[in-house]
Amino acid sequence: MADSLISIVVPCYNEAACLPAVLEEVEKALNSVPNIDYEILAVNDGSTDETASVLQNCRMQNPRLGVIQFVRNFGHQAALSAGLAHARGDAVICMDADLQHPPGLLPQLIQRWRQGFDVIQTVRRTQPGLTKSLSSRAFYRLLNLFSEVEITNGAADFRLMSRRAVDSLLALPERSRFLRGLVAWLGFPCTTIEFDAPPRHAGSSAYNFKKMMAFAVDAVIALSARPLHLALWIAGFVLLSAFTYAIYILNLIAHSVPLVKGWASTIFLILILGSVNLLCTGILGLYLRAVLVEIRKRPDYLISDYIPPAQSVTEPHVLHNNESGLSAERHLIARKA
Ligand code: UDP
Ligand code: MG
Repeated sequence: MADSLISIVVPCYNEAACLPAVLEEVEKALNSVPNIDYEILAVNDGSTDETASVLQNCRMQNPRLGVIQFVRNFGHQAALSAGLAHARGDAVICMDADLQHPPGLLPQLIQRWRQGFDVIQTVRRTQPGLTKSLSSRAFYRLLNLFSEVEITNGAADFRLMSRRAVDSLLALPERSRFLRGLVAWLGFPCTTIEFDAPPRHAGSSAYNFKKMMAFAVDAVIALSARPLHLALWIAGFVLLSAFTYAIYILNLIAHSVPLVKGWASTIFLILILGSVNLLCTGILGLYLRAVLVEIRKRPDYLISDYIPPAQSVTEPHVLHNNESGLSAERHLIARKA
């Protein structure tokens, strides 16, 4: 007799070659867990390959599968957000569609949740490919240098969240959705499980070094005011240096030292002051853009089609009334489109 419903959220972008294997492994792992019922929500993030038809076929074979279809590609974090918003489980697990997040860990995640943790975060010990592990290391280095909440090095978007953690996450009003940071910010009781990421089952990664760095900058701006403090510190340092230099010059004048008007030092000062100015303006610009994104209030994603898992149609499990008005409204906007 099932006493809880587990939702699995799987964002998919061009994963036609991986999906059948992933779904099979996920089901195998979940069938081994006693007393649970489950639903799988696949979010097709505007794939350009056969992902949509593969999902349709899988849905015909397995009514526990729900399919959310995006109008176009909105990105990994948006796909995760859509899955979280539609999930009805008492616990929700997000995992990638390429078998890099081993379904074999699912029973362990559920067991930890039953022990009372709200967030079970998985952490990659290793991952295949030199570029990938280097860019991942650079990503976390940059993030933790500035972030005000600690993001575990190697924390993957493979985690279980309790219903109250999911509801709290959905109730956060901001548009910016860097889930790793937001979940850390929530601060619910959390534990970690380490794993070694295998290579992709098929296909290729959507994240290259450039994308990872852009993602890190967005995440820092969303999570932290530290770059603004950094700008102030640099400005203070340059001002102090300028004062010291002025005192030095005055001292030379007081001692009647003939001054050679140096071209090099002038150019040096102009370059330093100019670049510091640009750096500070650039940092301000990034925050301004983040403010613009927030006030525009565009939805995170647009859904063209939603086939709910059969479970939630025939036998609504638990009705959660504590979803915030805002997340409901976001839903509505997305579905209308
Ligand atoms: N993904 C997505 N939208 C995107 C890019 C990726 O939904 O625009 C999904 C992708 O299908 C996979 C997960 O996000 O399930 C992680 O992507 P990927 O494997 O390319 O990233 P990596 O594991 O290399 O960091
Ligand atoms: Mg992957």
